[in-house]
Amino acid sequence: MLDHVHNQAPLEACGLVAGKNDQVRRVIPIRNQAQSPERFVMDPYEQLQAFAWIEANGLELLGIFHSHPTGPETASQTDIAEAAYEVVQLIWSRTRGSWQACGFWIENGTATEVVLQIVD
Ligand SMILES: [Zn+2]
Repeated sequence: MLDHVHNQAPLEACGLVAGKNDQVRRVIPIRNQAQSPERFVMDPYEQLQAFAWIEANGLELLGIFHSHPTGPETASQTDIAEAAYEVVQLIWSRTRGSWQACGFWIENGTATEVVLQIVD
């Protein structure tokens, strides 16, 4: 995921996170149709293909990730307004030279940070 985010910078990168029982099994990068450093729009065809793949493999959509190459570390107003699925929003930001990821749960117009755990 970080490779994809880093390679797309300074444009925002985006994609889906699939898994089961709250455990991530697969990260699926999706082309940012907006090709913008400030916003992302998932390529609808790639997104559809990814959803089909997730279902065919018996997994669930756990999260959506995207990057903020120049910050902020939190969900933007646009992110909050455009959050379409009830899944964790993973935001990669590069505000202090290195990338870091934060998870947010967006509901009713507010973003709440969620704890992410790295497991092998
Ligand atoms: Zn954003």
